[in-house]
Amino acid sequence: MYTFCLNPSYCKGCGICIDVCPKGAIKSCGRIDAKGHELPEEHDMTRCTGCKLCEIVCPDFAIAIASEESAEEVPNEEK
Ligand code: SF4
Ligand code: SF4
Repeated sequence: MYTFCLNPSYCKGCGICIDVCPKGAIKSCGRIDAKGHELPEEHDMTRCTGCKLCEIVCPDFAIAIASEESAEEVPNEEK
């Protein structure tokens, strides 16, 4: 299972990420924010394959796709 992580301060609401997702896992949130942008959000992440196409095409580097495995890789002890 993957998580769609968005940095809303970078996102300009262009919708490219939504258009390229081959699984329809993300959608527009349907609300305009204070900057006039309609941001993407998770729709059904059980469909997400982790292809990272959305992350790659985002012109503003606003997206990170995280897996449960990568979350577990966060070091929790000093070396
Ligand atoms: S492609 Fe990037 S800037 Fe465009 S809506 Fe998606 S996250 Fe926002
Ligand atoms: S990683 Fe791929 S399948 Fe998942 S939301 Fe992004 S484009 Fe869609």
